This record gives sequence, structure tokens and C-alpha cells, in this order.
Amino acid sequence: KLYNQVQDLKGNIRVYCRVRPFLSGQLNYLSTVDHMEEGNITINSSKHGKGRRSFSFNKIFGPTATQEEVFSDTQPLIRSVLDGYNVCIFAYGQTGSGKTYTMTGPKELTRQTQGVNYRALSDLFLLSEQRKDTFRYDVSVQMIEIYNEQVRDLLVTDGLNKRYPLQVVCNTLEIRNSSQTGLNVPDANLVPVSSTADVIDLMNLGQRNRVVGATALNDRSSRSHSCLTVHVQGRDLMSGTILRGCMHLVDLAGSERVDKSEVTGDRLKEAQHINRSLSALGDVISSLAQKNPHVPYRNSKLTQLLQDSLGGQAKTLMFVHISPEPDAVGETISTLKFAERVA
Ligand code: ADP
Ligand code: MG
Repeated sequence: KLYNQVQDLKGNIRVYCRVRPFLSGQLNYLSTVDHMEEGNITINSSKHGKGRRSFSFNKIFGPTATQEEVFSDTQPLIRSVLDGYNVCIFAYGQTGSGKTYTMTGPKELTRQTQGVNYRALSDLFLLSEQRKDTFRYDVSVQMIEIYNEQVRDLLVTDGLNKRYPLQVVCNTLEIRNSSQTGLNVPDANLVPVSSTADVIDLMNLGQRNRVVGATALNDRSSRSHSCLTVHVQGRDLMSGTILRGCMHLVDLAGSERVDKSEVTGDRLKEAQHINRSLSALGDVISSLAQKNPHVPYRNSKLTQLLQDSLGGQAKTLMFVHISPEPDAVGETISTLKFAERVA
């Protein structure tokens, strides 16, 4: 309830900042985060001769914040999906800042370290179970990747998974805005699920397929956007009314600026696609936040895909991630500037 009141004031967009802890073996570094307090964070960039800079967001999670704490502020969004709203949750930040950790978790996953995706799905099933006397919910998922402005289905069979009747790989899917079905990528496999275990299975499949496109020298996962979409259809058992909501869980490509003088060819093309699509996303969210009548959705595949889940009644949550290392301070400042623009 409180969340919705806050949302009405903020135009349905919230921005949370999360600071990654130092990784093991890094204990002697001094963090660039000088100060954190409520919604304010101060970065010390004095190495760059610029001194301190403060930024404010809806919430700051420091390096000791647990996955559970991070998720607890996300929970009200899950309820709203079952009420028929569309929701987008993004992870933004430079490569290595903790995007995948927030959304999915670390490589060695335990119950405590499960990320937003797992927790959101288990909440969704829990809540729909609680409402079973009044609503009947059908849940299905899609998982796609956007790489170089091409949309690829990640829920394609890899031979290991025999449980789901999945179609063959399709590398260039079309985005269509068909508000009737709520399916913007109608040709991507849409898999009905009935438990968190089903979804975990599919996320693992999607993850494996994402890695297939990568080589040792070419870690594609940091240069593509991945989007897990959960479609929920609820039927009111009394009135027969149908509610439709969906949730997009988006692990964005790394936001680091690539020095154009140092890269060429494919690497440069990738970098340009990423820069363009992230700034298109920033433009869309900031024009929504400013209640600008023209929202430039058409400028990237990512914003086209999410068009009917950004703006209107939809709710948006952006987690911006920063690394604490002095080496990363330039990227940290540019990440926080990006986020401040949309907050
Ligand atoms: P990204 O997806 O932004 O490239 P990762 O999520 O892969 O970054 O994080 C980089 C490394 O830091 C990983 O080894 C990850 O497990 C670790 N890490 C990130 N965030 C945290 C955190 N909050 N607590 C502990 N380890 C973290
Ligand atoms: Mg990642």
C-alpha cells in the first residue's frame, strides 16, 4: 500500500543503488564509496582531481546488504503482477559490478544467495496459491537475448532438457506490439510453468544457451541484454474477468564505455550497439519520469520489446550497480550519472 502511494508520486519508477563488496583477496583497497546514508551516496573520486560527488536514489544497498534484504524492497512489485500490472526490473552497471549477482546470484548458488529472479518466482507461486479460492492463475515464461540489436530465443532445446517441447533455434525474432495477447515476441517459445522448480530448470537452460554463443575470448553474456519474461494470466473465479500482467527481469549488457581508439571491427560494433541501446533506455525512462508526452520507444530493440511495460500503469525498478575499486571510479561516476538522470 505504502509502496503504491510512493509510486503514484514518483511516476512508477524507482531506482536503487547497490554497491558490490570487495572480492576475496582485495581487502587492502580503499573503497571509492565515501559515505552512504538513507538515499544518498557520496563517491570520492579525488584521484581524478574531482573530489567528492553525491547522488540520491530511492534506496542504497551497501556492500553488506544480503540478497534477502535487496529482495524485500522488490516484493510489492510481485503482488502487482498478479493484480494485472506490468513490471520491469533492470540490472544496470559495468561488467563485474554485480548485475547477475543481484538478478540470479553467484555461481555457487544456495538458498541464501538466490537472486531476485528466483525469489520473485517463488513469491509469485506462493501468492497465487494463497489466492486460489478466488483466482486461477496461469504462468508461462519466455527468455530472450538481445545482441547487436538482434533478438534471439534462449529457451531453445540444447538436447539436455527433455521436459519441454521446445522449438529449434531462431536467431532473429521479430518484436511486435500485440497488446491483445501481451506477447511482444510471439515467435519465441512460451513455456507454461507451475512451480519455481520449472522456472529454475528453464533459467538454467537459457543460461546454457546464452553461453553457447560465447567463446573464451568473447564473453558475450556481458555484451548482450537478457530478459526473462513471466506472463501471468488470472481468472476471477466469481466474475470470470481475466487479468493479465507480466514481469520482465532484465540483466543488461555491461555499461562500460569502450575506448573507440582501442577497439575495431566486431568489438566496436558491439560497443556501439550497447551504448545506443542503454542510452535509448535512459531516454525512455527519463522522459517517463519527467512526464514528457513523447517517449522515444522506437530507438532500440530493448525499448521496443518493453514498450508496454514501461510507462502507463507499469512499474519500473532499476538496480544500478557500482564496484568499490578505485580503478573503477570513472565508470562508477558515469553509472551514477546515468541513474540520476532516470531517478
Ligand atoms: P556482472 O553481472 O555485473 O558482470 P557479477 O554479478 O558477475 O557482475 O559479479 C562479479 C563478481 O562479483 C562475481 O564473482 C559475483 O559473484 C561477485 N559479486 C557481485 N556482487 C556481489 C555481492 N553483493 N556479494 C558478494 N559477491 C558479489
Ligand atoms: Mg553478468
